[in-house]
Amino acid sequence: MSVMIGLETHVQLKSASKLFCGCRNPVTYKGAGELKPNTFVCPTCLGFPGSKPRLNSKIVDFAISAALALNCKIAPSMYFSRKTYFYPDMGKNFQITQYEVPIASEGIMEISVGGKKKKIRIRRIHIEEDPAKLIHMHDGGREYTKVDYNRSGVPLIEIVTEPDFETPEEAREYLTKLGQILEYLGIYDFSLEASMKSDANLSVFGGDRVETKNITGVKEVQRALRYEHIRQNNMHRFGKKIEMESRLWDPVGGVTKRMRRKESEADYGYIFEPDLPVIENEKEKILQIKKSLPELPDEKRIRFVKQYQLHESEAEKLASEKELADLFETAAKVVGVKIASGWVAGALKKTLNYNNLSFRKSGVKGDEVIKVLKMFKKGDFTDHVTETVLQKIVESGRDADSVIKELGLKRIDDKKIIETVILKILAEEQRAVDDYLGGAEKSLNYLIGKVMRETRGQVDAGTAKKSIVEAIKNQTK
Ligand code: ZN
Ligand code: MN
Repeated sequence: MSVMIGLETHVQLKSASKLFCGCRNPVTYKGAGELKPNTFVCPTCLGFPGSKPRLNSKIVDFAISAALALNCKIAPSMYFSRKTYFYPDMGKNFQITQYEVPIASEGIMEISVGGKKKKIRIRRIHIEEDPAKLIHMHDGGREYTKVDYNRSGVPLIEIVTEPDFETPEEAREYLTKLGQILEYLGIYDFSLEASMKSDANLSVFGGDRVETKNITGVKEVQRALRYEHIRQNNMHRFGKKIEMESRLWDPVGGVTKRMRRKESEADYGYIFEPDLPVIENEKEKILQIKKSLPELPDEKRIRFVKQYQLHESEAEKLASEKELADLFETAAKVVGVKIASGWVAGALKKTLNYNNLSFRKSGVKGDEVIKVLKMFKKGDFTDHVTETVLQKIVESGRDADSVIKELGLKRIDDKKIIETVILKILAEEQRAVDDYLGGAEKSLNYLIGKVMRETRGQVDAGTAKKSIVEAIKNQTK
């Protein structure tokens, strides 16, 4: 195995309050973007002497649900530790985390890349607090740093894998699926801009591992890993020694940069956190959480294939987001499975992806989509019109009626109108007609495209094709 990759991923959780105090969690605060710095703070999350942490028990439940979804073993009892370091992002000079006994360990996630299934082992999941945000100022030659403690104490789970990835694509697939699972569980919400940040370890040819820290998002992890892979391969080829170090990903430059020699975990001098009790994760509670877990993406995908006879890839697209899957199932009852799956997994999902939106974040109501699909089913809309209307609904966030009215699109079936358009185009495109008559099938597609553009897609593509062929035949008689 020439490449080994492992990930450590920090996920901000969707609780109302912070991990060790009653402050609001800015992650779930509407308008967090305009939030003034250092407003959601108290003596505890600022680390004032004498302040004491109190554990938000909701976060333990959240972590247990993540552990169950990732097939982990849950520690029957656990405690928190202080990870000591000196840096202004943590006012008390240590981070409360779990070290010796994490809440969960030994999990498994199955991923599939290019149709190949693979099991990724989860080494551990632990709970910890987010540090404050540092903002480095470059102000007319003056350089200084501001600290915003709103983020200090935001609840995180850190999910650590074994070094089981062999390509950057596998790492990306894992993170995508991790996000989906955590969203299904209702403990993470991408649409709230809750962050998912990863430290990515990569080594080549059994050499020392190099850690690239703090990469935000899913795509960036893949980019950073691709870069690191090439860089380390080149060093190896030129016989240079790769030593253990920490690097930073620069998404603008597209490179990783040396940060410091990697410290070992022992350098942090972990000690037991005496201000928090030992916590028992009772069997009964775990069982209760297990019972309340929703159907997860994998289970849903498998059920969709079985129950609706969908293709694996279509089922996977539909199951990628709970809200999208729900829309499909509701729509299937109204317009049938084929129309519902085709449009929801097809044009709708494509438009959401293109606009970097989830269905939830788009704010589109399921009923609006179903309204459009009903008109398609009735024959009021061609494929092309249906796609245009769905796109516009997603992009404008408006309701179906107003979008349809504004676009003024419907299906054109009137033979006379269609014929007039086609004759006009054939007259303009004599060369394409000749090419077609000479056997170039491609020219027919070109002519169909012309008709579609001229009629803004209001003529069904099949009808257009048939009518063009007929018109050319008549002309050459
Ligand atoms: Zn606080
Ligand atoms: Mn951490």
